[in-house]
Amino acid sequence: MSDAPGRLVPVPTAETAEFWDACRRHELVLQRCHGCGQVQFYPRVLCGGCGSRELGWARASGRGVVKSFSIVRRPVSPAYASDGPYALLLVELEEGPTMMSTLTGCEPGRAFVGMPVTVAFDDWPEGVTMPRFRPA
Ligand SMILES: [Zn+2]
Repeated sequence: MSDAPGRLVPVPTAETAEFWDACRRHELVLQRCHGCGQVQFYPRVLCGGCGSRELGWARASGRGVVKSFSIVRRPVSPAYASDGPYALLLVELEEGPTMMSTLTGCEPGRAFVGMPVTVAFDDWPEGVTMPRFRPA
């Protein structure tokens, strides 16, 4: 048995299952409040704008802009040793919310604030699909 911890795999909850199911279909969805219209990420029980529990799901464009980023050169654990270096992004989505993700499709050093990006999906062998972003 290895002492190295494995990769962390998201475990869908009642609030996040729809999001992860959509990712598996290579679709990005966001919660939209039926009360005030606010779009939010991450998925949760209540609207962050008005507190309503009347939330639905809407397909997002998948487009956004890099709001901030950091180049990760040292893996957080041996399980991620083959991932680096990579650019960790804060992406401001066209619909408003900000999503943390990573850059794919180009060298991490090419990331810049204001970079237009579009969603891409990584199917992990663990059965989960991760949303990432590539240059638009
Ligand atoms: Zn609301």
